[in-house]
Amino acid sequence: MRPFTYQRVHTPAEAAAALLQQRDTKAIAGGTNLLDLMKLEIETPTHLVDVNGIGLDKMEATSDGGMRIGALVRNTDLAADPRVRREYPLLSRALLAGASGQLRNRATTAGNLLQRTRCPYFYDTDQPCNKRLPGSGCGALDGFSRSHAIVGHSKYCIATHPSDMAVAMRALDAVVETVHASGGTRSIPIADFHRLPGNTPHVETNLRTGEIITAVTLPRPVGGVQIYHKVRDRASYAFALVSVGAIIQRDGSGRVAVGGIAHKPWRVESAEALLPNGASAFTSKLLAGVHTTTQNAFKVPLVQRTIATVLHQAGELQR
Ligand code: SF4
Repeated sequence: MRPFTYQRVHTPAEAAAALLQQRDTKAIAGGTNLLDLMKLEIETPTHLVDVNGIGLDKMEATSDGGMRIGALVRNTDLAADPRVRREYPLLSRALLAGASGQLRNRATTAGNLLQRTRCPYFYDTDQPCNKRLPGSGCGALDGFSRSHAIVGHSKYCIATHPSDMAVAMRALDAVVETVHASGGTRSIPIADFHRLPGNTPHVETNLRTGEIITAVTLPRPVGGVQIYHKVRDRASYAFALVSVGAIIQRDGSGRVAVGGIAHKPWRVESAEALLPNGASAFTSKLLAGVHTTTQNAFKVPLVQRTIATVLHQAGELQR
């Protein structure tokens, strides 16, 4: 690990300003991803801004019946919150499907959204990786690609986003709130928060330099049956090959977001009108433009079967 300086800040504005004070500055909260990346010298900040003391660790009701989750609310606390369990159970289940108890105790809401891919070539500094070193190539394209993206990717990067929580938030139509060092605030729909790789896979979100996440807001609950179904290589402590976060209403309409198949949680709203017609029709439109490698082609039928399972479960629960 390379030497770095360390600073504690006390307000969101102070945190955002600190990010602009010198080059190669990173914010740190739980550190569950960043510290690993620093030890491997994939992230090499020269200055760390500790944001744990800036008071963003509250959950509160919003005036329109929704919920505001502070950026620093720990994943464990969010998953266990009685209102989340009652009105947004999809979110609670997605959180509990991710990482381990120890990691969830440290990991924060904002950090979860900002975690980086687990592509093995990204973590191996002897391998080419456009995300880690722009212009160096993509080791996964002709390499081990079993866990990689099948939609929305480019010839520059086929990595997936690893978050379970973000998949649930995409189905819930969450909004990411931010503040910039200039004092300006933004509300970014989660659909627009993460980026597809294009030719700049190292730019993963639409956060600007000097801008930090302050909260994630959930709209008023929409009811229905909420299911998070994660398919992975082992029963716990593994990233999704495919995950499905769904809110299904009694008439068969609903929302479905899918994890493990793209550089961001994958949801195609225009396909959702086909949900009452069943998994096959819906999946065909959801995966329009699909492009697989020989190693990850299995994800196409796996997505369809996982969605079929979720729709069947929803039907059973609504009997
Ligand atoms: Fe890097 Fe993306 Fe290629 Fe993985 S898939 S090696 S993260 S460029």
